[in-house]
Formats: sequence, structure tokens, C-alpha cells
Amino acid sequence: MTGKSTPDTMPSGTTSGTPQVLLAHHLKQLKLPTVLREYDKVARECARDGVDHPRYLLRLIELELIDRERRMVERRIKAARFPAVKSFDTFDFTAIPTLNKMLVLELARSEFVLRRENVIALGNSGSGKTHVALALGLAACQKGFTVAFTTAAALVHQLMEARDERRLLKLQRDLQAVKLLIVDELGYVPLSPTGAELLFEVFSQRYERGSTIVTSNLPFEDWTSVLGSERLTGALLDRLTHHVHILTMNGDSYRLKQSSGRRQSRASDKRAEQNQATGDAVDPETGEISAT
Ligand code: ADP
Ligand code: MG
Repeated sequence: MTGKSTPDTMPSGTTSGTPQVLLAHHLKQLKLPTVLREYDKVARECARDGVDHPRYLLRLIELELIDRERRMVERRIKAARFPAVKSFDTFDFTAIPTLNKMLVLELARSEFVLRRENVIALGNSGSGKTHVALALGLAACQKGFTVAFTTAAALVHQLMEARDERRLLKLQRDLQAVKLLIVDELGYVPLSPTGAELLFEVFSQRYERGSTIVTSNLPFEDWTSVLGSERLTGALLDRLTHHVHILTMNGDSYRLKQSSGRRQSRASDKRAEQNQATGDAVDPETGEISAT
């Protein structure tokens, strides 16, 4: 209920008022904005093409359904609070050969969310972990799942604040309800004992209830340095890795490669010119010279 009801002055049925005005009013109340926007145009098209009434109605309703789905995807994307919207369309798999492309494309079907499985992306800075996490998050939004994106540091900060303000339970329930939680950048900032405990609780409460994606620059054996306690790290990994897909993303920083690639291509152009006379080949990636 919207709380809005037909005012007394608004005639109902067909007693008075132009049908267009009434129709607009009723369609707004029924929340059918696409029908309202399109009914006249589609009616003209159907009259022109000799389409009968049931098919006219079907066309209109289908338009409303398509639009409604699009609006819901947009709403889920907004609610997810992605720092940027990224997809696999702009991801270059050849730049990161350690990454299992088949597995990633399978994960992009979002069935792991349905199965409440987790994903952990491990790799050094700039290797594309956040990009992959964002793209998996976007795919899940498009498939109809609720998603929340955060960083480990921001999440811990939020949890501590909620605890201080005595609304931790509500936040924990909200975090539990989301179908896919993305926790980016575990490992950059060491956590306080309380922070680590609260983060552990989040993973623990989501265990077998929802999917979690974690990205980290640290291999598992170094997670203790972030979480502080070996016991807690063990318990956390136990839950997180029970149903998990691990993405190994060890490669050069895409950012560095892009900028140094530009510099190197200028340098290697020069070197290639110099070496043309001797018959040496220059590797365009590394700028190294190999004798042919
Ligand atoms: P990480 O989270 O591992 O530090 P990011 O995902 O933030 O790395 O990647 C750094 C930048 O490089 C981002 O702008 C990202 O979109 C881009 N990037 C990284 N890897 C790739 C790739 N394989 N194809 C296209 N863009 C990439
Ligand atoms: Mg990142």
C-alpha cells in the first residue's frame, strides 16, 4: 500500500472524466508506468498491423515486464554500492594467464550464489581482483540476487560503529540477508582483535546461508597477520573454504603494465630500429632482445 487512495473527487469507473485521465490515474496506482507510456503508441501500431485485442494487451504487458526487470536490476546495482560498475566485457583474460577463465565464466552464471558457495580471489595488487569481484557482483544483480560490496576495512569499521551504537544485531541481520556479500581487500590493513572477531562473526553467520566473495593480496598462510589470532584465522578459513572456488591471480599489475607498456613500446620501437641491421628480435612485452 502506498497510503494514496482515490480521492473522493476522483470519479471511479466510467461515470465521468475522460478515459485517458482515468486510465493514467489507475495505471499509476497499479504501478504500470510502461503501459501508461506506451499504450497509445502500441495501439496505433496494432491498429495499423491488424493485431487483435488480446495480442495488443500481451504486447503492452510484455513491455511492462521487460521494463520492470530492468528497473529491478538497476535498483539492485544501486543497493550493492559498487565503487564502479565493471563487467567481463572489459576484462582481458590474456593479461592474467594464472586465472582460470573457464571457472570465472562459469561463476559469472551466478549458480554458485544459488548453491551458497564462496569465491576467494588471491593475487598481488593490480592483478584484477576487484574487477573480477565487481563483474561477478554485477552478473549476480542481473540474475536477480541481492548483492552488497564493501572492503574488509570499511566493513569492520561499520561493525564497530554499529556495536558502539547498539545496532550491531540489525547490521548483522542485514549482512546475513544479502545473497552475495563481496568483501574486497582483506589483507591491506591489520585488524584489531575486536575487528577480527566481528569480521569472523559475519563469515560465520553467512556460512551455508549465503555466498561471500573475498579478495586478498595475501596467501592464506599470511592471513593470521591480518586477523591477529591463529585460532580465529583457522576457524574463519574453515568456514570460508568449506564450499569455495579459489581464483589464483598472480600476475603483473595491470595498471603498471599498461603504463610501462606505453613507455616500453616507445623504447622497443627505438631498439627495434637499432637492431634491424643485426637481425635481433625485440620482445614487445619485455623489451628484451633475443638473437634470431
Ligand atoms: P586489484 O584489485 O587486484 O588490485 P584491480 O581490479 O583494481 O586490481 O585492477 C586495477 C585496474 O586495472 C582496474 O582499473 C581494472 O579494471 C584494471 N584491470 C586489471 N586487470 C585487468 C584485466 N585483465 N583486463 C582489463 N582491465 C584490468
Ligand atoms: Mg582491489
